[in-house]
Amino acid sequence: MPRINGERLLGDLRRIADFGRYQTGVHRPHLSPQDVESRRWLANRMKEAGLEPVIDGVGNVIGRSPKSGPRLLMGSHTDTQPRGGWLDGVMGVIYGLEVARALAEDPDTAHLAVDVASWADEEGHWGGMIGSKSFIGRITDADIDAARHRDDGSKMRDALKAAGLENAPRIELEDGRYRCYLEAHIEQGGLLEASDKKIGVVTAIVGIYQYRLTFSGIQNHAGTTPMPIRKDAGVAMMRLYSEVMDKFPALAGPRSVWTVGKLSVEPGAPAIIPGKAEMVLQFRDADPAVLQCRHRWRSDCSTRSTTRPRSTRPACTRACPPGPATMRRSWRSVCRRP
Ligand SMILES: [Zn+2]
Repeated sequence: MPRINGERLLGDLRRIADFGRYQTGVHRPHLSPQDVESRRWLANRMKEAGLEPVIDGVGNVIGRSPKSGPRLLMGSHTDTQPRGGWLDGVMGVIYGLEVARALAEDPDTAHLAVDVASWADEEGHWGGMIGSKSFIGRITDADIDAARHRDDGSKMRDALKAAGLENAPRIELEDGRYRCYLEAHIEQGGLLEASDKKIGVVTAIVGIYQYRLTFSGIQNHAGTTPMPIRKDAGVAMMRLYSEVMDKFPALAGPRSVWTVGKLSVEPGAPAIIPGKAEMVLQFRDADPAVLQCRHRWRSDCSTRSTTRPRSTRPACTRACPPGPATMRRSWRSVCRRP
């Protein structure tokens, strides 16, 4: 019976958290210097475990087992959100590594093959799940040429070059290599703890819709512009934010969640009325019917708000099917000025 070496497993989790450690968590966006360093460390640990590691052309780290026969693929991601948790993603990668090691150490299971993967850019700094999409052939080189960092607009190609990966080939799924894929992930919602359970099984993966809303007003002096004539983009944005939070519960499914995780006003000075404001609204749900909202709210917003959202840019580029009328109604009421 193979035995997991808990000390070794926790030791690896603690060690990799040194790359980009930030207070009690980790700041390790994909292709940052800390991320690249952590990938090299991981590849070495894979090698020590008897795997044949490769860091591919988008940064995926894949440790392939030299053993023949049916194989299991295990993994997750080692990049993090800005100031993310130290177990998010990486736990699934190190679990895979430890399973490979434990099986290899037991004579009864030493013949079993496990490949281990750390998927690149799961956290979406360059576009979202670029590593796993590349692995299953869902992106092209042109997509990678076009990929830009979500914060500073820098090119993914330049970051790959800085990481020494410009000539590395992308590794794609080999037909028939795997029996299945397993991914362990830390639960980040607190539900298990609240129900006094140690482990749960994932039953669905949510879809994500994301919108960048830009509000255009008139920038002016905060001391001399009378209140009645102001076109304050920040006020319009906060009204919409507040309405979203008030109205969405009526439309939500049991697992719907929505977040405004980013807000900004320009020029962002205490004595200037914001001429432009921007917020990023995201909602997630496992039920496609709930997600199937049309982008009609864009025109609704445009016609109903004097300080109006000027442009929207859904992150999802797929055609959005006609959505439930309730959602469309909701967007209209959300955009209506009080
Ligand atoms: Zn994760």
